[in-house]
Amino acid sequence: MPPPNRYRRQEVLPEIGVEGQRKLAGARAVVVGLGALGSMSSDLLARAGVGHLRLVDRDVVELTNLQRQLLYSERDVDRPKAEAAAERLRSVNSEIEIEPVSKDVHSATVREILRDADVVVDGTDNLETRFLINEAAIESNIPFVYGGAIATYGMAFAIRPPVTACFRCFNPKAPPPGSLPTCETAGIFNAASAMVGAIQAGEALRLLLGETPSGALYVVDGWRPDVQKIRIARRADCPTCVLGEREYLGARRAQVLASLCGSDTISLDPVHRGTIDMEAVANRLAVLGSTRRAGGVLVAEVEGHRLTIFPDGRALIRGVKDEAEARGVYAKYVGT
Ligand SMILES: [Zn+2]
Repeated sequence: MPPPNRYRRQEVLPEIGVEGQRKLAGARAVVVGLGALGSMSSDLLARAGVGHLRLVDRDVVELTNLQRQLLYSERDVDRPKAEAAAERLRSVNSEIEIEPVSKDVHSATVREILRDADVVVDGTDNLETRFLINEAAIESNIPFVYGGAIATYGMAFAIRPPVTACFRCFNPKAPPPGSLPTCETAGIFNAASAMVGAIQAGEALRLLLGETPSGALYVVDGWRPDVQKIRIARRADCPTCVLGEREYLGARRAQVLASLCGSDTISLDPVHRGTIDMEAVANRLAVLGSTRRAGGVLVAEVEGHRLTIFPDGRALIRGVKDEAEARGVYAKYVGT
């Protein structure tokens, strides 16, 4: 007797069918950011049978994430999110290929992260990364499904260049840093982020099946459930999808530092990456404080700082007040 077909309930949908299921099996999706939105969207894409999923996140799991980030449990705290998410989704669907990527998305890494993708789903927490992904997606003609959630509301918007408006058409000017609320200051209602993540997954699946997105921004009220549609027009003077400027892709930075949403944590990505000798670093740091392994990373508590060191040399540095201090801590304890 042949094994039962796990996708039967999906194949009977006239919108998908056996042919659509085959398409999904051959498709490649990238989910960038595995927080509340990325947890929901990647879970649905894995269950729906998207054949190849690349799961990208630069951070590790924290206890305060568990309120809304559906892929993680208490035992994942301190592990890289990409690694914990991959393990969870492999246990859900072993028939698809899952590729965890514990990297920071910036101008030097974004093309590799989006390579060969048929769709990219936004689970990031900041505008700069979204502008960057938007530029890279337009350059390579990859559909991009934007999503954002804060407090009790959220938004989702499926972009297929050049048919729909792009993310920059919708946000022509980047607001100055610090002018937007963050999930730390405004909080987040888990039902709202789950709704947005589900809309994004649906839009990604429809794109993979060859459907054209509506061109509308979905604005979700997660408290008194409601979804509104707002038409976003393509701007005749859009710097990204019309004029072809590559403001974010073209940025060259010596060392990439990024503050993580709502914490005293900075992610430091050295220019020259390479596999570092974790044993040697652990031994060196053990003299100064405590060290332990959590999945593929090394966690060290030294002199009031917590360092999470990834095998490629990237580090999350907690307990620093600014980027200069983060650079100093990295140089002192990891070395450049
Ligand atoms: Zn545009």
